[in-house]
Formats: sequence, structure tokens, C-alpha cells
Amino acid sequence: MKLWRYVEALAIISAAGVTSLNVARLVRAVDGVWSVLFLLVSLPLGAALADFVAGTVHWIGDTFGREDGSSLFSPFRGHHADPLGITRHDAIETNGWNCVLAAPFIAMSVKLAPQQVGAAFYSSAVLTALSLFLCVTNQIHKWAHSHEVHPVVRYLQRCGVMLSPEHHAGHHCGAHDRRFCVTTGWMNAPLDRLGFFQALTRALGPWAVPEPSNTTPTTHVVEQSSLPPPSDIPEEPASNLIPPRGRGRPGRPEAPH
Ligand SMILES: [Zn+2]
Ligand SMILES: [Zn+2]
Repeated sequence: MKLWRYVEALAIISAAGVTSLNVARLVRAVDGVWSVLFLLVSLPLGAALADFVAGTVHWIGDTFGREDGSSLFSPFRGHHADPLGITRHDAIETNGWNCVLAAPFIAMSVKLAPQQVGAAFYSSAVLTALSLFLCVTNQIHKWAHSHEVHPVVRYLQRCGVMLSPEHHAGHHCGAHDRRFCVTTGWMNAPLDRLGFFQALTRALGPWAVPEPSNTTPTTHVVEQSSLPPPSDIPEEPASNLIPPRGRGRPGRPEAPH
């Protein structure tokens, strides 16, 4: 839809501009070592919050989306049927929706407008970091499905700073009922251990739209260069998820959305 594409492009430009202004305002308000330390701490804090928010939206999409394209959340289920479709999206299609999603957090951060260190400064720092990571979540998700990524990206994936293909493979196997968080993946272990999203799905009962059993693809993603052994992928035979190097790329069906 052409109009939606303009909205997405506008959201990306606005998010980049306003978030940059917020960062500049926070840096100007810094008045000592503690405020600098808090700015640094707000980055992982914002990343963890973004992981949770994006994971919750992902769970909603997976729970209520229909494969026939009849709902706003259909692309989530479409991604299960065609995990590589996301790698064919351009920058606007990849990042626009997340920038729209981040808009309320960006707006809250602007409203706080910290002039000096205090409650508004701390809140704005966390909200700005949250917005920043939320805006780039789908780009990170795309990289977790991409055959080739920049060595810096691969390094950050290996360090666990951003979602790795090996970790995300845990979502694309079985019933797609775990590892919903796709920013850093940090929140997946505690939330899955608590059974957080699984309990929400059970509580919904018949309101949750069941996913067809034939949705799981035989191959998931990943054929990034210098991929380490898939030790991080439990429960599913690794051969179903990560093709051995030199076997060639998995099939690339057309995107359903
Ligand atoms: Zn999913
Ligand atoms: Zn995925």
C-alpha cells in the first residue's frame, strides 16, 4: 500500500531526527560522572525493555494473526511460513513499522525535556534508549535471518549484544511458542522459564488463533559465513534449522505479504 509506505518513511525520518535531538539534549544536561554513568547504564536497560516490548508485540502478532492476510498481524504468521522473506525487504519496509511502534515512547521522551539531571533526565534517558532499540529491532531480526552480514554485526551477534541466528532459530522450530523477543534476546530466558507468554496464550483459551501445523518450514535461515556450531539451539535437530556450509542457500519462496 503506497500511503502506508509514505507513513513508514516519515516515521523513520521523524524517529531518527527526534531521537538524535533527545540524545543531544541528554548530553547537554549531563553535569557529572554519575549522570554519565547513568546514560551508559540506560543503554542496556533500554535494550532489555525494548526486547520485552518487541517480544510482547511479536506474541500478539503470532497469537492473533491469520495467514490469509486478513488482519494487521498477518505478516507475523507469514514470517513463520517464509522466514527468509524478511531478507528481501528494503530499509523502509524493514524499519518503518517499528518506528511507528516507538512513536509513543519517543513522544514521552520529548515531553520530559530534561534541562538538568533529575527524574526527567533519568526517565528520558531510559525512554530514549528504549525507543532507539525498538526502532532498530526489525533490522536486527532481519540480520538474524540474513545469509551475509557485516563482520561487526556478526561480532555483536556472537557477543550476545544483538539477536543471533542461533538463538532466534529456537523461535522458528516447533510451535513458535517461545523466544518471542527479537532485539537482543536477553528477555527470552527469564520469560520462557517463567512461562510468561505461554501462560498468556493459555489464559486466552479459544481467543488465541491456532497456527496451522504445516507452517513450520524445513529450513530456517542462517548460512552466515563463519557460523559457529549450533550449540545454542535446543530441542530441534540442527539439520532442520541451519544448513551445513557448502550445501547452498535454502529455497527463497515469494513473500506472502
Ligand atoms: Zn513468530
Ligand atoms: Zn524470525
